[in-house]
Amino acid sequence: MKAAVLREVNQPVTVEDVQVDAPAPREVLVRTGASGVCHSDLHFVEGLYTTPMPCILGHEAAGIVEAVGEQVSYVKPGDWVISCLSVFCGICEYCTRGQPYLCTRTAVTRSSNDPPRLRRDGEAITQFAQLGAYAAEMLVHENALVKVDDDIPFPQLALIGCGATTGLGAVLNTARVEPGSTVAVVGCGGIGIHCVQAAALAGALRIIAIDTTEDKLGLAREFGATDVIDATAGNVAERIMDLTDGGVDYSFEAIGLKQTAEDCYNMLRPGGMATIIGMVPEGVKIELDAGNFLRRGRAIQGCTMGSNRFRTDMPRYIEFYKQGRLKLDELVTQELALSEINRAFADMKAQSVRRSVITDFDN
Ligand SMILES: [Zn+2]
Ligand SMILES: [Zn+2]
Repeated sequence: MKAAVLREVNQPVTVEDVQVDAPAPREVLVRTGASGVCHSDLHFVEGLYTTPMPCILGHEAAGIVEAVGEQVSYVKPGDWVISCLSVFCGICEYCTRGQPYLCTRTAVTRSSNDPPRLRRDGEAITQFAQLGAYAAEMLVHENALVKVDDDIPFPQLALIGCGATTGLGAVLNTARVEPGSTVAVVGCGGIGIHCVQAAALAGALRIIAIDTTEDKLGLAREFGATDVIDATAGNVAERIMDLTDGGVDYSFEAIGLKQTAEDCYNMLRPGGMATIIGMVPEGVKIELDAGNFLRRGRAIQGCTMGSNRFRTDMPRYIEFYKQGRLKLDELVTQELALSEINRAFADMKAQSVRRSVITDFDN
């Protein structure tokens, strides 16, 4: 099959012919229908985060089940599925206490004694996030999939696989924003834009979108923001304090920078909660005034993949979409062939808010 392989950081990925092993017990072979180009993939291309190489990136995908291994009971060939990087084992402490997104995942990967799922001329190739979605086929554990109806296009389904699940989940699952609250979203790209619409779904009274480009702020308004702030002038936390008469109940960091993470904390009203979603590079330290914990009761928390239980969450998000309460069509504006993936990364670096989605895996 064709796949886009990352062999070296800061180099173009190359489309190569890769061999896929037969499905082992509990594994499923999925023919990829669409694969979104997510900012997290770009972080690995740029070396801000690391993965064993060679590696097939891509983790925001949907497709059709082609074959199943032994003991697979959840899906059968022909089923439509969304993949999720929160593959869960179902038996570890985190899974059994209702936090499968924190799964320690000992039972969902092949051991080093087994043949690799993917290889090229004898060389093992890593699947990013146990998925490797920039490829015509994905060989995954059945617990990395959710079954869905076949009545929504693959690109929209793919977006639910990461961007929507992360952004919506941060608001609805991680922070549990309640009706009437005031919410600030810092960074209105592929994740932040979903935080904005989740805040609207949750009944927030005031939703303040913060970004540096007109394009993103305009889209944020369309998606439910009541106020927008152009961050290019700086002093974001102070300006939010003035605008809200003392701070927001919830803030969401959806960029991955030290400064914006600190801003998110400093814009909280007493008792407020900042949720950090963005991939702040490993090793970066965030500095907070400790007095604010005690005197103002401000809190800050991390967020892993929208604290999802994706087999429950994703079908709900699809229903919201069908009812017109969740916008996805506006975000898919560029469908590309696999060979154009480096162009998609370049567009993403250029700050485009909309997603490139790979839909042609033969070219
Ligand atoms: Zn992603
Ligand atoms: Zn587990």
